[in-house]
Amino acid sequence: MATYDDQNIFAKILRGELPCLKVYENDRTFAFLDIMPRSPGHTLVIPRAGARNLLDIREEDFMEVARTTRIIARAAMKAFAADGIIIQQFSEPASGQVVFHLHMHIMPVKEGVPLLPPQTRKEDPKVLEDHAAKLIAALKA
Ligand code: 5GP
Repeated sequence: MATYDDQNIFAKILRGELPCLKVYENDRTFAFLDIMPRSPGHTLVIPRAGARNLLDIREEDFMEVARTTRIIARAAMKAFAADGIIIQQFSEPASGQVVFHLHMHIMPVKEGVPLLPPQTRKEDPKVLEDHAAKLIAALKA
């Protein structure tokens, strides 16, 4: 398996070198909206520590990612009036991973509404801003 490369897009977002719509952060983790959401509110949770994916992340870092994933999932249920949440994590290209900094996908879903296929289209930035505001408000509630 290749080693971690800190020039990946999410490492640049973490360092503030690229923009994102942040919804939550703490000492160990960072959460922001996916620019090509598969459902309204599709959020990514990443560790601050450099890890390529589930296969090389340190257990304690992954525990923090799991903790934040749960926080976001619960808030997303409220913010998007969802009926459920899908969590996905891809490790290595064969699985569909395209960005090599570990991330959890958190996708709120409504009964009977299928997810869009991965990376179908870039969402309108105004829509993403509205979704970020809704999620941030639910996280504060
Ligand atoms: P993967 O297949 O690696 O699990 O998914 C990577 C995800 O990152 C995709 O859902 C894709 O839409 C998202 N993505 C790719 N580039 C960017 C970006 O520059 N900003 C944000 N916020 N998401 C991105």
